[in-house]
Amino acid sequence: MTPTPNTPSHPPLRACLKIAWDLRHALSRRRSPTTSALLLGLALTLSQALALEPGRLYTRGPATGKQLALTFDDGPGPDTLKVADLLDRHRVHATFFLQGNLVSNRADVVRELARRGHELASHTSNHRNYLAHYRSLAAGTNPGSPAAQKAETRARNDLITDMRLAHSEIKHHAGIVTRLCRMPYGIDRPWVRDAAREAGYALVNWTYGADWEPKPAHELLPGYLNAIQPGAILLFHDGGRNRTKTITLVDAVIQDAKSKGYQFVTVSQLLTSTASPHAVAP
Ligand SMILES: [Zn+2]
Repeated sequence: MTPTPNTPSHPPLRACLKIAWDLRHALSRRRSPTTSALLLGLALTLSQALALEPGRLYTRGPATGKQLALTFDDGPGPDTLKVADLLDRHRVHATFFLQGNLVSNRADVVRELARRGHELASHTSNHRNYLAHYRSLAAGTNPGSPAAQKAETRARNDLITDMRLAHSEIKHHAGIVTRLCRMPYGIDRPWVRDAAREAGYALVNWTYGADWEPKPAHELLPGYLNAIQPGAILLFHDGGRNRTKTITLVDAVIQDAKSKGYQFVTVSQLLTSTASPHAVAP
């Protein structure tokens, strides 16, 4: 697939940035400088996310500069703010792919992530395995048959409903509009991209991730350090219980990357930075 040019001078992004700038002026008349700065940050993040193409899958940013993105899945959870505290200590912003049905119980945590300048994105509401769902719907059908097609349409529509549910949960409980979605298990199929296009989401997978493997941090760290490359999107998990191992890994990755001259940016910033983002061919 040929990447589409998507530079900061790209007309849609330029228009979005103007909207963000106008918004800042409008808000600064009535709000404190801190609130205004926070809202500007959110507006810029949203405008950058809006510049990405719905239904397209991104797995890394341009390899033209020493920038990379840290991403966290399956939250908000009991240790999410511990992860955020670590990021604060290193003055690093990351992207959190939130599970929509967990947001209502920890809406304050989600709002705090936004307040600290992190990017919030969707990991669907139910974290369903949509490939398994499709296979169960299509069981006993012949590939390409009307029955198999019907199963695919059903799986696609269920995913659209799930994506829209996550969107409304995050918006209702945390006041945040999301435009990036990471599929549970990173599942990629043409009908998944169709669903994302219809729900208005750009899809984001990862360049490298391994913190879910049942190995100690010192065994997992070399893989992460090897993955520190220009444009990398690194996957970790803040959701679930006891993220001590993840926090150890993230701490070591940040220190190593900074010693090599890397900057950490959000996924939207990475994908809209300089050259064309790289999409994965189907
Ligand atoms: Zn997940």
